[in-house]
Amino acid sequence: MASVKTNVIRSQKSYFDVLGLCCSSEVSLIEKILKPLEGVENVSVIVPSKTVIVVHDNHFISQLQIVKLLNQARLEANVRVFGEEKNGKHWPSPYTLASGCLLLLSLFKYLFAPLYWLALGAAVVGLLPIILKSIASIRSLSLDINILILITVGGTIAMRDYTEAASIVFLFTIAEWLESRASHKAATVMSSLMSMAPQKAVLAENGLIMNVEDVQVSMIVAVKAGEVIPIDGIVVEGQCEVDERSLTGESVPVVKQIQSRVWAGTINLNGYISVETTNLADDSAVARMAKLVEEAQHNKSKIQRIIDNCSKFYTPAVVIISAGIAVIPTAFKVHDRKWWYSTALVILVTACPCALILSTPVATFCALTKAAASGILVKGGDYLESLAKIKIVAFDKTGTITRGEFTVTEFRSIDPDFSSNTLLYWISSIESKSSHPMADALVGYSRLNGVEPKPENVKEFQIFPGEGIYGKIDDKNICIGNKRLATRAGYVTGPMGEGIKDGLTVGYVVMEGKVVGIFNLSDTCRTGVAQAINELKSLGIKTAMLTGDSHAAALHVHDQLEQAIELVHSELLPEEKVRIIKELKKTGPTAMVGDGMNDAPALATADVGISMGISGSAVATETGHVTLMSNDIRKVPQAIRLAHRMRQKIIENIGLSIITKAAPVGLAISGHPLVWVAVLSDVGTCLLVIFNSMLLLRGTETPKSKCCQSEQGSDPTREALLLHV
Ligand code: ADP
Ligand code: MG
Repeated sequence: MASVKTNVIRSQKSYFDVLGLCCSSEVSLIEKILKPLEGVENVSVIVPSKTVIVVHDNHFISQLQIVKLLNQARLEANVRVFGEEKNGKHWPSPYTLASGCLLLLSLFKYLFAPLYWLALGAAVVGLLPIILKSIASIRSLSLDINILILITVGGTIAMRDYTEAASIVFLFTIAEWLESRASHKAATVMSSLMSMAPQKAVLAENGLIMNVEDVQVSMIVAVKAGEVIPIDGIVVEGQCEVDERSLTGESVPVVKQIQSRVWAGTINLNGYISVETTNLADDSAVARMAKLVEEAQHNKSKIQRIIDNCSKFYTPAVVIISAGIAVIPTAFKVHDRKWWYSTALVILVTACPCALILSTPVATFCALTKAAASGILVKGGDYLESLAKIKIVAFDKTGTITRGEFTVTEFRSIDPDFSSNTLLYWISSIESKSSHPMADALVGYSRLNGVEPKPENVKEFQIFPGEGIYGKIDDKNICIGNKRLATRAGYVTGPMGEGIKDGLTVGYVVMEGKVVGIFNLSDTCRTGVAQAINELKSLGIKTAMLTGDSHAAALHVHDQLEQAIELVHSELLPEEKVRIIKELKKTGPTAMVGDGMNDAPALATADVGISMGISGSAVATETGHVTLMSNDIRKVPQAIRLAHRMRQKIIENIGLSIITKAAPVGLAISGHPLVWVAVLSDVGTCLLVIFNSMLLLRGTETPKSKCCQSEQGSDPTREALLLHV
């Protein structure tokens, strides 16, 4: 699949591998070539992965025409074929090889003096592609590294320093090749993410093979053992284990039975299943993830914007200084003009802040890729930068700290006029319309007791986020929810029903201002929550729990976690969660982790909103800045650690590029203007920056699985500050 249809009009989005794209200064060149063309709607250039994405109208301009135009500027473009290994250059270009051989032979000049001239040949041969690229940039009125190198080599040849000229050319071209190899590796990790889902699906009914784009919602597709699941859906037949690593970063296979959800791009390990599709291919979790990762590349981070802006003035300024150093001493007829010329050339080479420009985007790119591969989707480099600064993490309770898989432990009618089954019929019918985790439990409980919900009988219906639900059924106004909702529905005090255990979530059924039923729900902590909270603590980060549930239920969870959470706020409405996040933000950068619709405003308010899982509510996933693909809270400290590592790498990269720019200039001032050292440090630093950033791709940080409780050495004497709102 070389292109993705973006809409019904003829526009299409094409991806190009542009191997000749070596630093941000070529971005404007590409934009100048493509943007004015008729039919080109949008051009985005991703430097680290050497990718150009063009939205264009195929009737005006085809992919091949675009490739041709880019190649005229010597940019070595190809149309990207997804799922295929990109053709990274295995060998340096013949020009580079020839230049290298000639340079080597010329070193035998001590044996046979005329061999000296081979160095000039080496410089000229290696220079040919650089000249062609320079012509392309001059045409588009931009100044790039190729022109700078051309002037430098020209100057060195003029000074009859042929060996130096040849060394510069060879070093530059060989380093460019190495750089393209390196970023090719980072890019393959990325494109393998984008091409996880297969392109064909097999219909269960008749074995027909279809393109996934043509598969509709509610069709049934068959997936055999060993095959990749082509589309998101629900298992309707069979059982198997699925490897969801591509999506969640978790290597433990997940058992799937009837009614389990499965996702495109994950692998059926060992059984036959039929899957009823729930999404179109374009809208599958993996497609959304690929889009998000791609968009994340375009969101330049703050540091990157600053560097980009500075470099706009830096290059011309340095070129002028260098020209001054060459021209002024000549005008004054000073001695030792060669020294001045060489110094001017050294300074000219430092005019391309290639490594500095690459320092942030390459590290960000590698961090985003690493995050995506571990099941953490970050919507932009900026959020990783914010994550690195986080001082407080607030968690929602239901569905985030706890599984959100409730079981009804007790259900009772407290009005003799209505039997339990009548209440269950009302409740399950109304709750069928809600996606709250409690709703599922109540509907399931009714079915277990032989009461089938009839959602079609519910006439009016309203959700009160953080409180419960209202519905009109058989002409009766019924509210189901927490004490707050019950109070608003008219319940003041009255029979609470004995036997309601402390610490469990209590629900009330209110009919026309009167409590008619009462129920108890229990929920368990997710695996690894305590571990996550302790890890955050070891990173110096405070934790808080914000819940809409009762104070007793909040305390129960708090105790289960051995009171490791520092702040607990309960019985909150969505807007109160927002208020608390605002207060927390005053004490330091705050992240909020949540799953539900009621968490969306708080997620948006926090410096970084982290939403739980592909199974979390769509609103939360849309609003969150970071999405955890699996429901593993330990991914939160993992993401923060990755953000810290990324920040560290950026600082290292910036330091490295400034030092290596300054060193040759310092050397020149102290009397040793070595142009080849300047070139070596220029291209060498680019390489170092890329390799240093790629270290982010290494290392697995998946913590070992442990249980929710009894897993930590928390300090029992620590006073937890409990705030009851
Ligand atoms: P949390 O903030 O911990 O995720 P919610 O805000 O989702 O919790 O829910 C707060 C409380 O509102 C729940 O504890 C429950 O009592 C009540 N509630 C919310 N939705 C429903 C529903 N559909 N049915 C019954 N009770 C509900
Ligand atoms: Mg929740």
